[in-house]
Amino acid sequence: MSAIRYELIKTCKQSGARLGKIHTPHGIIDTPIFMPVGTLATVKSMTPEELKEMDARIILSNTYHLYMRPGHKLIEKAGGLHKFMNWDRAILTDSGGFQVFSLGPLRKISEEGVEFRSHIDGSKHFISPEKAIEIQNSLGADIIMSFDECAPYPADYDYVKKSLERTTRWAKRGKDAHKYPEKQALFGIVQGGMYKDLRYQSAMELMEIDFPGYSIGGLSVGEPKDIMNEVLENTTPLLPKDKPRYLMGVGSPDDLLEGVIRGVDMFDCVLPTRIARNGTALTSLGKIVVRNATYQEDFTPLDPNCSCYTCRNYSRAYIRHLVKCNEILASRLITTHNLHFLLKLMEDVREAIMNDRLLDFKNDFFRSYGLL
Ligand SMILES: [Zn+2]
Repeated sequence: MSAIRYELIKTCKQSGARLGKIHTPHGIIDTPIFMPVGTLATVKSMTPEELKEMDARIILSNTYHLYMRPGHKLIEKAGGLHKFMNWDRAILTDSGGFQVFSLGPLRKISEEGVEFRSHIDGSKHFISPEKAIEIQNSLGADIIMSFDECAPYPADYDYVKKSLERTTRWAKRGKDAHKYPEKQALFGIVQGGMYKDLRYQSAMELMEIDFPGYSIGGLSVGEPKDIMNEVLENTTPLLPKDKPRYLMGVGSPDDLLEGVIRGVDMFDCVLPTRIARNGTALTSLGKIVVRNATYQEDFTPLDPNCSCYTCRNYSRAYIRHLVKCNEILASRLITTHNLHFLLKLMEDVREAIMNDRLLDFKNDFFRSYGLL
């Protein structure tokens, strides 16, 4: 039996977007969903209680980073990632592939796996598809990822084809090595770059192996947005209707909407938490750089249409002051707002799907956000 079950509730008559639920060992996730990223077993500056208050149902952690520090064996000793970080809702871990391949000259790829040097102390390591699963089995997340290669953009056809075929072989090896399929759902990752026929080939090969869910990788790697949307349009219809689809590493408000309209159920991105620490807020009226002098005497909230803890209690002028003085509270307040903003956006998206008006919702949102 699979660890998770996807329930399709309805399809938006106006846009084709999917409204659903994913039943996991740690609760139910309403989809489409945005997943906050907690790279090192912490969503930077937020406590699990605060994440629950904003109704986050699932967070993401990074296998590569946790393997490096504090090590998966230590987390296993602690009783797994949920216990270690005191989070009793769902967790998804990536496979580490993306980080390892991002190391550039520090890594060497072979059929067996990837040899690389640590970004921390230069020590030598080797991750194979089996090792990536072993680490994720120790971490114990509800949803885990196959070890894959995310081809860069641009990349030529032959390279992408070879890379995706190896990714398929690695996915098969990972599935064979997976120890707890009844507790952890292993997803296959569709690659194939920007080539329609290669995306098709990748999806078909992975579905042949059969996974409880499918990720779409290799997007948002520098390609123009219309190309990303086109790849999604060509890829999601190939995937099974009764399983979740996860678009990896995508999380700007406009990309979330475009992805949902093209049939995606799950998203993650460091964007809301990373830009918060640089003093930038996502608002219903577009992005604002709180540091700017414009806000020096602005005693209104970050977003006049937001009901989060930060917006209920603090002004732009106060938060700007904190940012200027490098106060820790600035990061916490803006992170709280940015995460709330994206989680609320997805809640509104789900309601719009329910009411068959997602395209209208998108137009209204884009106009307000300054994209139309
Ligand atoms: Zn707010």
